[in-house]
Amino acid sequence: MSSVGKCFFCNKEFTKVGINKHLNEHLAKETNNPATGLSFHIRVDEDPRSGNLYFLNLWVDGNALMSDIDIFLRAIWLECCGHLSSFSYPKQKKVLTIFDEDKFLSDTDEIMDSKAKDILVNGTKLKYDYDFGSTTTLFLNVLAQYNVTVPGDIILLSRNEPLNILCEICGSATAEVLCTTCYDPNTFCKKCAKKHAKTCDDFADYSKMPVVNSPRMGVCTYAGGTIDIKRDGIFVSK
Ligand SMILES: [Zn+2]
Ligand SMILES: [Zn+2]
Ligand SMILES: [Zn+2]
Ligand SMILES: [Zn+2]
Repeated sequence: MSSVGKCFFCNKEFTKVGINKHLNEHLAKETNNPATGLSFHIRVDEDPRSGNLYFLNLWVDGNALMSDIDIFLRAIWLECCGHLSSFSYPKQKKVLTIFDEDKFLSDTDEIMDSKAKDILVNGTKLKYDYDFGSTTTLFLNVLAQYNVTVPGDIILLSRNEPLNILCEICGSATAEVLCTTCYDPNTFCKKCAKKHAKTCDDFADYSKMPVVNSPRMGVCTYAGGTIDIKRDGIFVSK
């Protein structure tokens, strides 16, 4: 499965790696001389151990609070029932591979209440956890900083377009729902979902959840975001 994202500025589609550089080229043109503010291009990736397909590229004003980023992440990808969340810092300043879980230092309250410009600098890496039970872990990576303000504090520059997740029964149709109590099969197209309902009582009761464009899909009661809803649905072929 491949993951692509559209550019906020020109609406062209790029690979999940290519979009970073492309957006920086646009952002560099926004730069003012003399400086009129401070802002950051932040890449948010899902935990690579869960597939590494979901991503967000955000443009965040330096005066936005880290809790504003928290609110944004919840609204687009995470919020199910008001779980706690935290940002954690790398313990050392040196570049870490994002697998070094124990090398992140939690400092939640202090980070949440801080302005982005007091926490972030070009190259900063942060780990973010939502829900300390069924945790969704994200990694934030500051790709660049610019000397301009961001209208409205946070702009969604790109996100992965809905992934073509296939039905695990017929293997050919795009999955529209999943069953949170079954593993194999777990995702179903409309037709096969009807069949699954006949064999799985939970599915009819409570375990049927929509396929959504988020790394929290199928976790807890997560049923989709509240912003950028247009791209939060299932894959539609062009
Ligand atoms: Zn572009
Ligand atoms: Zn929940
Ligand atoms: Zn099917
Ligand atoms: Zn089931």
